[in-house]
Amino acid sequence: MIRQFELVERVHSYDPEADEDMLNRAYVYGLQKHGSQLRASGDPYFSHPVEVAGILAEMRLDTSSIVTGLLHDTLEDTDATRDELARLFGEEIAKLVDGVTKLSRLEVQSETTKEAENLRKLVLAMSSDIRVLLVKLADRLHNMRTLHHIKDPARRRRIARETMDLYAPLASRIGMERVKRELEELAFAELNPDGRASVQARLGYLREKGEQIIPQVEAELSETLKDGGLTAQVSGREKTPYSIWRKMQQKNVSFEQLADIMAFRIIVSDVTECYQALGLLHGRYQVLPQRFKDYISVPKPNGYRSLHTGVIGPHGQRIEIQIRTAEMQEQSERGVAAHWIYKQGGPSTDAPQYAWLRSLIDILDKAPDAAEFLEHTKLEMFQDQVFCFTPKGNLISLPRGATPIDFAYAVHSQVGDTCVGAKINGRMLPLRTQLQNGDQIEIVTSKAQTPSPTWERFVVTGKAKAAIRRFVRVRQREQYLQLGRSLLDKTFHEEGYEVTDKGLDGVKANFKQASVDDLIANVGAGLIGSREVLTAVYPGLKQPRKPGGADVVPISRARSKAGRARENAAKQDHSHGQIAITGLIPGMAVHFARCCHPLPGDRIVGIITTGKGVTIHTIDCATLESFSESPERWIDVGWDAVGEGAAAYTGRLKITVANQPGSLSSLSTVIARHEGNISNLRIVNRSMDFFDMVIDVEVSDVKHLADITAALRATPAINAVERARN
Ligand code: MN
Repeated sequence: MIRQFELVERVHSYDPEADEDMLNRAYVYGLQKHGSQLRASGDPYFSHPVEVAGILAEMRLDTSSIVTGLLHDTLEDTDATRDELARLFGEEIAKLVDGVTKLSRLEVQSETTKEAENLRKLVLAMSSDIRVLLVKLADRLHNMRTLHHIKDPARRRRIARETMDLYAPLASRIGMERVKRELEELAFAELNPDGRASVQARLGYLREKGEQIIPQVEAELSETLKDGGLTAQVSGREKTPYSIWRKMQQKNVSFEQLADIMAFRIIVSDVTECYQALGLLHGRYQVLPQRFKDYISVPKPNGYRSLHTGVIGPHGQRIEIQIRTAEMQEQSERGVAAHWIYKQGGPSTDAPQYAWLRSLIDILDKAPDAAEFLEHTKLEMFQDQVFCFTPKGNLISLPRGATPIDFAYAVHSQVGDTCVGAKINGRMLPLRTQLQNGDQIEIVTSKAQTPSPTWERFVVTGKAKAAIRRFVRVRQREQYLQLGRSLLDKTFHEEGYEVTDKGLDGVKANFKQASVDDLIANVGAGLIGSREVLTAVYPGLKQPRKPGGADVVPISRARSKAGRARENAAKQDHSHGQIAITGLIPGMAVHFARCCHPLPGDRIVGIITTGKGVTIHTIDCATLESFSESPERWIDVGWDAVGEGAAAYTGRLKITVANQPGSLSSLSTVIARHEGNISNLRIVNRSMDFFDMVIDVEVSDVKHLADITAALRATPAINAVERARN
């Protein structure tokens, strides 16, 4: 176990400004908290966090990262609390330790590659500070180094699998090749000991045959470059068993064919020399086709830059050669961590061209110092996505802003179509709730449920939108048929006639309709007036009935028995998703008029809008005037007594506020205290003393809006409040 002063000295050696006092306090605190706990190896538990801190010191990270390494298991495994960490070590450390703890709880078995990819993204998205991820990787590295102490083979395997699928690729993503290689080798040893043994045996045999081949090749390559006038540092190594194994699998080649059992690295001083060295080698040795790669012109997405080539080298050996500068080398081994130290050293301004890490690098370039870079780094590339779990632990990725309806459709169209509710992390929450990373969603379904057109307001995925629209189209036709029939019934009965299919069939051609159903549906959709149909069937009735201008509910006036019965039936079975309105046909598309913003509790009427369904207006809305000539488009509607879900409607208020400091904040405070939510605010008129504004407030009903209005009127800074009309 690394001792306290050793750790502090190591950190001090690369960071003279390290906070020694904090390091010492964290060491002592961790030691005390983990107390007599033991590791599977029998070592004191605290040896683990100390080793993790040691790995982070090797990466040459800042004091906060090292302290986080020392404390990373205290929240999970001891009685330490986040508050205590914040008090003793500051909020930054508390946040980092908390972040690592959250990542560690994500112990989800990833079965398929697709899910592993999502899981990697989730981990990245949850590592809001890159140091969280670096500490987690160091933690996993030490756990892998000590994996053999764990007795249960299934558990060992699970950890190794997770390392291979999740943590090694993550290390690679942020460019930490050294960590990635070690994680892979350790996991490979656990997952495929036979494969590894056979690679090693074969390597041993080739090594015997080739004897001191690596030093010989190194010497000859150096000579070749020197003859060409280049001073280079050449080093050779055997490739690791896992990388050989993977190449054999991917390329489906046998061991003998492999050029790259031996890899040589040539370090030169700048980019020009990289290409010069390449020219010299290609001039001297036979080039292996298709092995040349220029990652200097086109860096890998994680920022890796180097030239790769393969030649038949000295002694007729096929060898792989990587040519790069010292800085590229540092970058390739240490990835993100390399940037930090470069910045601290100051001299390098030559940041490589990251693609996916671009936002991160931007911050790096703008941050005045390295500590700030690490602190403010946000891994933003997956900020536009959320990742949620099914109850079985499958991971589903959705766009940010997605709701349980999107989730349900992502699982299966059937699940979406029949969705009635959602449990998020075990709690029943509204379907409009926006999902968060890591949420577990259980969709409650019912065979009786059908998609509601109102869902379209809060879904974000194309699949959900398309499914809802498709359903609505089919449904709309049925609704228009029913509605058309009841409208025709009403109109005909008012004149003492009966609607008959025969009668309609006789006039359908007058309206250019192919069938009686089409005719009825178009009456329902408001495209054809029921009165026009009546006069077509009974041409003697030329005079259209004149509606009474002030009478806004003509349907209720001369209602036939049949019509009344049909409307009552509609009332009974109507449940309209989030909007509870009676008097409509189930599932019918409903819009709330923007002119009058009806709220539950207002007296309302419905107007059938051409091709669109029904628009709801307040009964005193001036817009209704324009419909007085078409009484057949009016329908009687009311609010269902039991409204579903609070704060679902928008009320509009016109407010005059004193132009003085704090008046706006008292306005929003009053509204918030009454559980209203301002969804839109517009200042329409500003003067020296007062300004007028129009605000939209989400409320549950008209009484709720009235409460808010009263409270606002009682506020001293507010001069006048009115419900806005038109
Ligand atoms: Mn740990």
